[in-house]
Amino acid sequence: MKKSMDLIVDVNKIGTVLKPVNINLDIDWLKNILNNCEYPINAESVKSVLNASYDNDVVTIKGNIFFNGETDCSICLSNTSININVEIDIALKKQTDKINTEIKNEFTSDDLEFEYFNGNLIELSEIISDEILLALPLDPRCPGNCKSIPYLIPADEPSKEISSINPVTD
Ligand SMILES: [Zn+2]
Repeated sequence: MKKSMDLIVDVNKIGTVLKPVNINLDIDWLKNILNNCEYPINAESVKSVLNASYDNDVVTIKGNIFFNGETDCSICLSNTSININVEIDIALKKQTDKINTEIKNEFTSDDLEFEYFNGNLIELSEIISDEILLALPLDPRCPGNCKSIPYLIPADEPSKEISSINPVTD
């Protein structure tokens, strides 16, 4: 996946209190991520409002990523707009030798709550792209009523004609 320099955060520049962090998400970066979606999405715009803090070896990043675009309704295949609000709430713990040993010896529930980072730079691209993909609807729907599509079989309206269709070959 394409890395974006704008998505690298220097932990030394993050204060102990949550403050806005300057992260530039460009539309090409988003389009690249959305290529991993099972259905095509034509992304049109993206913006982010993110805050970060670094305290007690833990970097917290909270906020939202908003984007919109167009996709096909999974039922009637008509073009429909899609507006996604990705909630970001990430905690990353600085990886130390001590923590390494703790993980090997005892994987406590506390450890499971965190992702880890090494050094002073955190590359957010992969973490954020995972969150974006998780926020996508499994089957995008148009705002209209799609029930009248001929090949769909409404549960309350069985018909001989429809039930004779072989779902494997048709
Ligand atoms: Zn539809």
